[in-house]
Amino acid sequence: MKVAIITGISGQDGSYLAKLLLAKGYKVVGVVRDLNRRLDGLEYLGIRNQVTLELCDLWEQASILRLLKKYQPDEIYNLAAQSSVGLSFEYPIETIKFNFVSVLNFLEAIRLYDSKTRFYQASSSEMYGKVKDLPVRINSPMHPLSPYAISKASAYWMVVNYREAYKLHCCTGVLFNHESYLRSTNFFVKKVIVEGIKMISNPEMVLRVGNLNVRRDFGYSPKYVEAMWMMLQGDSARDYVICSGTSILLHDVVRHIFHRMGLDANRIVIDQELSRLTDIEDIYGDKSEASDILGWEYNLDFFQVLDMLIDEEMRNAHQVSHLSRQVQGA
Ligand code: NDP
Repeated sequence: MKVAIITGISGQDGSYLAKLLLAKGYKVVGVVRDLNRRLDGLEYLGIRNQVTLELCDLWEQASILRLLKKYQPDEIYNLAAQSSVGLSFEYPIETIKFNFVSVLNFLEAIRLYDSKTRFYQASSSEMYGKVKDLPVRINSPMHPLSPYAISKASAYWMVVNYREAYKLHCCTGVLFNHESYLRSTNFFVKKVIVEGIKMISNPEMVLRVGNLNVRRDFGYSPKYVEAMWMMLQGDSARDYVICSGTSILLHDVVRHIFHRMGLDANRIVIDQELSRLTDIEDIYGDKSEASDILGWEYNLDFFQVLDMLIDEEMRNAHQVSHLSRQVQGA
Protein backbone atom coordinates (compact mmCIF):
# COMPACT_ATOMS: atom_id res chain seq x y z
CA MET A 1 0.00 0.00 0.00
CA LYS A 2 1.40 3.39 -0.98
CA VAL A 3 1.58 6.03 1.76
CA ALA A 4 0.81 9.68 1.02
CA ILE A 5 1.14 12.62 3.39
CA ILE A 6 -1.09 15.63 2.77
CA THR A 7 -0.49 18.94 4.51
CA GLY A 8 -3.41 21.37 4.48
CA ILE A 9 -5.80 18.39 4.79
CA SER A 10 -8.38 20.62 6.50
CA GLY A 11 -8.58 22.87 3.44
CA GLN A 12 -10.52 22.60 0.19
CA ASP A 13 -7.94 20.79 -1.96
CA GLY A 14 -6.64 18.66 0.92
CA SER A 15 -10.10 17.17 1.43
CA TYR A 16 -10.71 16.35 -2.25
CA LEU A 17 -7.17 15.04 -2.71
CA ALA A 18 -7.58 12.76 0.33
CA LYS A 19 -10.75 11.36 -1.19
CA LEU A 20 -9.02 10.73 -4.52
CA LEU A 21 -6.00 9.00 -2.94
CA LEU A 22 -8.16 6.82 -0.68
CA ALA A 23 -10.11 5.71 -3.74
CA LYS A 24 -6.78 4.76 -5.35
CA GLY A 25 -5.91 2.57 -2.35
CA TYR A 26 -3.40 4.84 -0.57
CA LYS A 27 -2.91 5.08 3.16
CA VAL A 28 -3.50 8.81 3.66
CA VAL A 29 -1.83 10.68 6.50
CA GLY A 30 -3.20 14.18 7.02
CA VAL A 31 -1.04 16.75 8.77
CA VAL A 32 -2.85 19.16 11.08
CA ARG A 33 -1.58 21.89 13.38
CA ASP A 34 -4.13 21.16 16.07
CA LEU A 35 -5.81 17.80 16.66
CA ASN A 36 -8.99 19.58 17.80
CA ARG A 37 -9.26 21.48 14.51
CA ARG A 38 -12.60 21.03 12.72
CA LEU A 39 -12.32 18.87 9.62
CA ASP A 40 -15.59 19.81 7.96
CA GLY A 41 -14.30 18.97 4.47
CA LEU A 42 -13.37 15.39 5.39
CA GLU A 43 -16.67 15.01 7.29
CA TYR A 44 -18.63 16.36 4.33
CA LEU A 45 -16.95 13.89 1.96
CA GLY A 46 -17.57 11.02 4.43
CA ILE A 47 -13.88 10.10 4.77
CA ARG A 48 -13.00 11.54 8.19
CA ASN A 49 -12.41 8.09 9.72
CA GLN A 50 -10.32 6.78 6.83
CA VAL A 51 -7.57 9.37 7.19
CA THR A 52 -4.79 9.09 9.79
CA LEU A 53 -4.29 12.48 11.39
CA GLU A 54 -0.88 13.56 12.58
CA LEU A 55 0.14 16.64 14.48
CA CYS A 56 3.20 18.24 12.92
CA ASP A 57 4.71 21.69 13.25
CA LEU A 58 5.73 22.71 9.74
CA TRP A 59 7.90 25.51 11.14
CA GLU A 60 10.14 22.81 12.69
CA GLN A 61 12.34 20.67 10.47
CA ALA A 62 12.77 18.14 13.31
CA SER A 63 9.01 17.69 13.44
CA ILE A 64 8.96 16.93 9.69
CA LEU A 65 11.89 14.52 10.02
CA ARG A 66 9.96 12.61 12.70
CA LEU A 67 6.96 12.49 10.36
CA LEU A 68 9.05 11.03 7.53
CA LYS A 69 10.62 8.47 9.87
CA LYS A 70 7.26 7.39 11.27
CA TYR A 71 5.39 6.97 7.97
CA GLN A 72 8.12 6.51 5.30
CA PRO A 73 5.83 8.18 2.73
CA ASP A 74 6.03 7.48 -0.99
CA GLU A 75 4.49 10.86 -1.79
CA ILE A 76 4.03 14.19 0.00
CA TYR A 77 1.49 16.77 -1.15
CA ASN A 78 2.30 20.10 0.45
CA LEU A 79 -0.90 22.15 0.33
CA ALA A 80 -0.67 23.98 3.69
CA ALA A 81 -0.33 27.72 3.24
CA GLN A 82 -1.75 31.05 4.20
CA SER A 83 -3.73 30.94 0.97
CA SER A 84 -5.53 34.28 0.80
CA VAL A 85 -4.13 37.09 -1.34
CA GLY A 86 -6.22 39.65 0.56
CA LEU A 87 -5.03 38.48 3.99
CA SER A 88 -1.43 38.49 2.80
CA PHE A 89 -1.55 42.30 2.58
CA GLU A 90 -2.62 42.34 6.25
CA TYR A 91 -0.13 39.68 7.38
CA PRO A 92 2.77 39.91 4.91
CA ILE A 93 5.51 38.67 7.22
CA GLU A 94 3.62 35.65 8.52
CA THR A 95 2.49 34.78 4.97
CA ILE A 96 5.93 35.03 3.41
CA LYS A 97 7.68 33.29 6.29
CA PHE A 98 5.28 30.35 6.61
CA ASN A 99 4.68 29.80 2.89
CA PHE A 100 8.42 29.70 2.28
CA VAL A 101 9.96 28.16 5.41
CA SER A 102 7.52 25.22 5.55
CA VAL A 103 8.45 24.26 1.96
CA LEU A 104 12.17 24.57 2.61
CA ASN A 105 11.79 22.45 5.77
CA PHE A 106 10.20 19.67 3.72
CA LEU A 107 12.81 19.81 0.98
CA GLU A 108 15.66 19.70 3.48
CA ALA A 109 14.04 16.90 5.45
CA ILE A 110 13.51 14.82 2.29
CA ARG A 111 17.10 15.45 1.19
CA LEU A 112 18.44 14.40 4.60
CA TYR A 113 16.12 11.49 5.32
CA ASP A 114 14.97 9.79 2.12
CA SER A 115 15.58 11.49 -1.19
CA LYS A 116 13.32 8.97 -2.98
CA THR A 117 10.15 10.47 -1.47
CA ARG A 118 8.24 12.37 -4.13
CA PHE A 119 7.14 15.91 -3.28
CA TYR A 120 4.36 18.07 -4.72
CA GLN A 121 4.25 21.80 -3.97
CA ALA A 122 1.08 23.87 -4.42
CA SER A 123 2.13 26.87 -6.51
CA SER A 124 -0.16 29.57 -7.80
CA SER A 125 -0.91 31.54 -10.96
CA GLU A 126 -0.64 34.65 -8.75
CA MET A 127 3.17 34.30 -9.12
CA TYR A 128 2.88 35.60 -12.70
CA GLY A 129 0.89 38.68 -11.62
CA LYS A 130 1.39 41.53 -14.04
CA VAL A 131 1.64 39.35 -17.11
CA LYS A 132 2.68 40.78 -20.45
CA ASP A 133 1.78 37.85 -22.66
CA LEU A 134 -1.22 35.57 -22.29
CA PRO A 135 -1.77 32.68 -21.92
CA VAL A 136 0.59 31.99 -19.02
CA ARG A 137 3.01 29.11 -19.58
CA ILE A 138 5.35 27.65 -17.01
CA ASN A 139 8.29 29.72 -18.29
CA SER A 140 6.40 33.02 -18.57
CA PRO A 141 8.15 35.83 -16.65
CA MET A 142 6.93 36.28 -13.07
CA HIS A 143 5.88 39.66 -11.67
CA PRO A 144 4.11 38.90 -8.36
CA LEU A 145 1.69 41.58 -7.12
CA SER A 146 1.09 40.55 -3.49
CA PRO A 147 2.97 39.15 -0.48
CA TYR A 148 1.12 35.85 -1.13
CA ALA A 149 2.36 35.76 -4.71
CA ILE A 150 5.91 36.55 -3.61
CA SER A 151 5.79 33.75 -1.02
CA LYS A 152 4.61 31.25 -3.63
CA ALA A 153 7.21 32.40 -6.18
CA SER A 154 10.01 31.99 -3.62
CA ALA A 155 8.80 28.50 -2.71
CA TYR A 156 8.54 27.64 -6.43
CA TRP A 157 12.19 28.53 -7.04
CA MET A 158 13.24 26.57 -3.96
CA VAL A 159 11.60 23.46 -5.39
CA VAL A 160 13.30 24.00 -8.76
CA ASN A 161 16.61 24.45 -6.96
CA TYR A 162 16.31 21.19 -4.97
CA ARG A 163 15.36 19.32 -8.12
CA GLU A 164 18.35 20.68 -10.02
CA ALA A 165 20.88 20.61 -7.19
CA TYR A 166 19.96 17.39 -5.38
CA LYS A 167 17.93 15.56 -8.05
CA LEU A 168 14.93 15.24 -5.72
CA HIS A 169 11.71 14.12 -7.33
CA CYS A 170 9.92 17.34 -6.51
CA CYS A 171 7.58 19.39 -8.64
CA THR A 172 5.09 22.20 -8.44
CA GLY A 173 1.64 22.57 -9.91
CA VAL A 174 0.90 26.15 -10.90
CA LEU A 175 -2.82 26.13 -10.25
CA PHE A 176 -5.20 28.85 -11.34
CA ASN A 177 -8.26 29.70 -9.17
CA HIS A 178 -10.38 26.65 -8.49
CA GLU A 179 -13.57 26.44 -6.52
CA SER A 180 -15.90 23.96 -4.86
CA TYR A 181 -18.49 23.69 -2.13
CA LEU A 182 -15.58 23.32 0.33
CA ARG A 183 -14.02 26.69 -0.55
CA SER A 184 -13.84 28.92 2.49
CA THR A 185 -16.22 31.89 2.57
CA ASN A 186 -13.51 34.54 2.40
CA PHE A 187 -12.97 33.67 -1.29
CA PHE A 188 -14.90 35.54 -3.96
CA VAL A 189 -17.08 32.90 -5.65
CA LYS A 190 -18.09 31.12 -2.43
CA LYS A 191 -18.78 34.48 -0.76
CA VAL A 192 -21.11 35.61 -3.57
CA ILE A 193 -23.02 32.29 -3.55
CA VAL A 194 -23.39 32.14 0.25
CA GLU A 195 -24.39 35.79 0.60
CA GLY A 196 -26.70 35.53 -2.42
CA ILE A 197 -28.62 32.71 -0.71
CA LYS A 198 -29.00 34.83 2.44
CA MET A 199 -30.18 37.77 0.34
CA ILE A 200 -33.09 35.74 -1.06
CA SER A 201 -34.80 35.82 2.34
CA ASN A 202 -33.37 39.20 3.47
CA PRO A 203 -34.66 41.90 1.10
CA GLU A 204 -32.65 44.65 2.84
CA MET A 205 -29.32 42.88 2.45
CA VAL A 206 -26.81 43.96 -0.24
CA LEU A 207 -23.65 42.35 -1.57
CA ARG A 208 -20.46 44.37 -0.97
CA VAL A 209 -17.64 43.57 -3.39
CA GLY A 210 -14.37 45.09 -4.56
CA ASN A 211 -13.27 45.59 -8.16
CA LEU A 212 -15.39 43.44 -10.51
CA ASN A 213 -13.64 44.59 -13.66
CA VAL A 214 -10.91 41.97 -13.51
CA ARG A 215 -10.78 38.60 -15.19
CA ARG A 216 -9.73 35.24 -13.76
CA ASP A 217 -9.27 31.70 -15.02
CA PHE A 218 -11.58 29.58 -12.82
CA GLY A 219 -11.83 25.80 -12.46
CA TYR A 220 -13.23 23.03 -10.27
CA SER A 221 -11.17 21.70 -7.35
CA PRO A 222 -12.06 17.96 -7.53
CA LYS A 223 -10.72 17.92 -11.11
CA TYR A 224 -7.61 19.95 -10.29
CA VAL A 225 -6.48 17.58 -7.50
CA GLU A 226 -6.36 14.79 -10.12
CA ALA A 227 -3.57 16.74 -11.82
CA MET A 228 -1.61 16.88 -8.54
CA TRP A 229 -1.63 13.09 -8.30
CA MET A 230 -0.75 12.66 -11.99
CA MET A 231 2.24 14.96 -11.57
CA LEU A 232 3.83 12.65 -9.00
CA GLN A 233 3.36 9.48 -11.07
CA GLY A 234 5.71 10.30 -13.97
CA ASP A 235 9.32 9.05 -14.25
CA SER A 236 10.77 12.53 -14.24
CA ALA A 237 9.70 15.53 -12.16
CA ARG A 238 8.69 18.82 -13.77
CA ASP A 239 6.26 21.67 -13.22
CA TYR A 240 2.88 22.18 -14.90
CA VAL A 241 0.29 24.90 -15.37
CA ILE A 242 -3.16 23.65 -14.33
CA CYS A 243 -6.01 25.84 -15.54
CA SER A 244 -9.19 25.98 -17.60
CA GLY A 245 -7.58 28.05 -20.34
CA THR A 246 -10.08 30.96 -20.43
CA SER A 247 -10.70 33.97 -18.22
CA ILE A 248 -14.05 35.32 -17.03
CA LEU A 249 -14.95 38.80 -15.83
CA LEU A 250 -15.83 38.81 -12.11
CA HIS A 251 -18.82 40.96 -12.99
CA ASP A 252 -20.16 38.12 -15.16
CA VAL A 253 -19.70 35.65 -12.30
CA VAL A 254 -21.82 37.83 -9.98
CA ARG A 255 -24.39 38.51 -12.72
CA HIS A 256 -24.77 34.76 -13.36
CA ILE A 257 -25.23 33.92 -9.67
CA PHE A 258 -27.71 36.79 -9.16
CA HIS A 259 -29.67 35.76 -12.25
CA ARG A 260 -29.89 32.12 -11.07
CA MET A 261 -31.11 33.29 -7.63
CA GLY A 262 -33.55 35.87 -8.98
CA LEU A 263 -31.71 38.75 -7.28
CA ASP A 264 -31.71 42.30 -8.62
CA ALA A 265 -28.32 43.64 -9.83
CA ASN A 266 -28.94 46.95 -8.02
CA ARG A 267 -28.21 45.09 -4.77
CA ILE A 268 -24.52 44.87 -5.71
CA VAL A 269 -22.49 47.58 -3.94
CA ILE A 270 -18.95 48.32 -5.09
CA ASP A 271 -16.86 49.07 -2.01
CA GLN A 272 -13.41 50.50 -2.83
CA GLU A 273 -12.20 49.36 0.60
CA LEU A 274 -12.55 45.78 -0.60
CA SER A 275 -10.36 46.34 -3.68
CA ARG A 276 -6.79 45.11 -3.58
CA LEU A 277 -3.87 47.55 -3.46
CA THR A 278 -2.41 45.97 -6.57
CA ASP A 279 -4.42 43.53 -8.63
CA ILE A 280 -4.04 41.38 -11.71
CA GLU A 281 -6.27 42.67 -14.54
CA ASP A 282 -6.56 39.58 -16.65
CA ILE A 283 -4.93 36.17 -16.46
CA TYR A 284 -5.46 32.77 -17.99
CA GLY A 285 -3.20 29.83 -18.60
CA ASP A 286 -2.24 27.30 -21.23
CA LYS A 287 -3.09 23.76 -20.14
CA SER A 288 -1.71 22.03 -23.24
CA GLU A 289 1.35 20.55 -21.49
CA ALA A 290 -0.80 19.12 -18.70
CA SER A 291 -3.07 17.63 -21.28
CA ASP A 292 -0.40 16.38 -23.77
CA ILE A 293 2.21 15.12 -21.28
CA LEU A 294 0.19 14.21 -18.19
CA GLY A 295 -3.00 13.24 -19.96
CA TRP A 296 -5.02 15.55 -17.67
CA GLU A 297 -8.39 16.35 -19.22
CA TYR A 298 -10.38 19.44 -18.29
CA ASN A 299 -13.28 20.71 -20.31
CA LEU A 300 -15.78 22.16 -17.81
CA ASP A 301 -17.28 25.50 -18.64
CA PHE A 302 -17.14 27.67 -15.50
CA PHE A 303 -20.77 28.78 -15.74
CA GLN A 304 -21.67 25.05 -15.63
CA VAL A 305 -19.48 24.73 -12.52
CA LEU A 306 -21.21 27.75 -10.99
CA ASP A 307 -24.60 26.11 -11.51
CA MET A 308 -23.35 22.96 -9.75
CA LEU A 309 -21.98 25.01 -6.85
CA ILE A 310 -25.20 27.05 -6.48
CA ASP A 311 -27.29 23.85 -6.44
CA GLU A 312 -25.01 22.16 -3.88
CA GLU A 313 -24.99 25.25 -1.64
CA MET A 314 -28.78 25.61 -1.83
CA ARG A 315 -29.32 21.92 -1.08
CA ASN A 316 -27.09 22.11 1.99
CA ALA A 317 -28.52 25.45 3.18
CA HIS A 318 -32.01 23.95 2.87
CA GLN A 319 -30.99 20.87 4.90
CA VAL A 320 -29.44 23.04 7.64
CA SER A 321 -32.55 25.25 7.95
CA HIS A 322 -34.81 22.15 7.90
CA LEU A 323 -32.74 20.58 10.73
CA SER A 324 -32.73 23.77 12.80
CA ARG A 325 -36.54 24.03 12.41
CA GLN A 326 -36.78 20.42 13.66
CA VAL A 327 -34.53 21.23 16.66
CA GLN A 328 -36.56 24.36 17.49
CA GLY A 329 -39.81 22.40 17.20
CA ALA A 330 -38.56 19.52 19.38
P1 NDP B 1 -7.33 26.43 1.95
O1 NDP B 1 -7.21 27.85 2.39
O2 NDP B 1 -8.68 25.82 1.82
O3 NDP B 1 -6.48 25.51 2.96
C1 NDP B 1 -5.25 25.92 3.46
C2 NDP B 1 -4.71 24.84 4.38
O4 NDP B 1 -3.43 25.30 4.88
C3 NDP B 1 -5.61 24.56 5.60
O5 NDP B 1 -5.62 23.17 5.84
C4 NDP B 1 -4.88 25.28 6.74
O6 NDP B 1 -5.02 24.64 7.99
C5 NDP B 1 -3.42 25.12 6.29
N1 NDP B 1 -2.57 26.14 6.93
C6 NDP B 1 -2.64 27.48 6.78
N2 NDP B 1 -1.72 28.08 7.54
C7 NDP B 1 -1.06 27.08 8.21
C8 NDP B 1 0.00 27.07 9.17
N3 NDP B 1 0.57 28.18 9.60
N4 NDP B 1 0.41 25.86 9.64
C9 NDP B 1 -0.16 24.72 9.21
N5 NDP B 1 -1.16 24.66 8.30
C10 NDP B 1 -1.60 25.84 7.82
O7 NDP B 1 -6.52 26.31 0.58
P2 NDP B 1 -6.85 25.45 -0.73
O8 NDP B 1 -7.17 24.06 -0.34
O9 NDP B 1 -7.80 26.21 -1.58
O10 NDP B 1 -5.45 25.49 -1.49
C11 NDP B 1 -4.44 24.50 -1.25
C12 NDP B 1 -3.09 25.06 -1.67
O11 NDP B 1 -3.12 25.44 -3.05
C13 NDP B 1 -2.66 26.31 -0.89
O12 NDP B 1 -1.26 26.23 -0.72
C14 NDP B 1 -3.01 27.45 -1.82
O13 NDP B 1 -2.20 28.57 -1.60
C15 NDP B 1 -2.75 26.81 -3.18
N6 NDP B 1 -3.53 27.36 -4.28
C16 NDP B 1 -4.90 27.36 -4.23
C17 NDP B 1 -5.64 27.87 -5.27
C18 NDP B 1 -7.14 27.87 -5.24
O14 NDP B 1 -7.75 28.50 -6.13
N7 NDP B 1 -7.78 27.18 -4.31
C19 NDP B 1 -4.98 28.42 -6.48
C20 NDP B 1 -3.54 28.29 -6.46
C21 NDP B 1 -2.86 27.78 -5.40
P3 NDP B 1 -5.98 25.18 9.15
O15 NDP B 1 -7.33 24.55 8.90
O16 NDP B 1 -5.31 24.69 10.38
O17 NDP B 1 -6.02 26.68 9.05
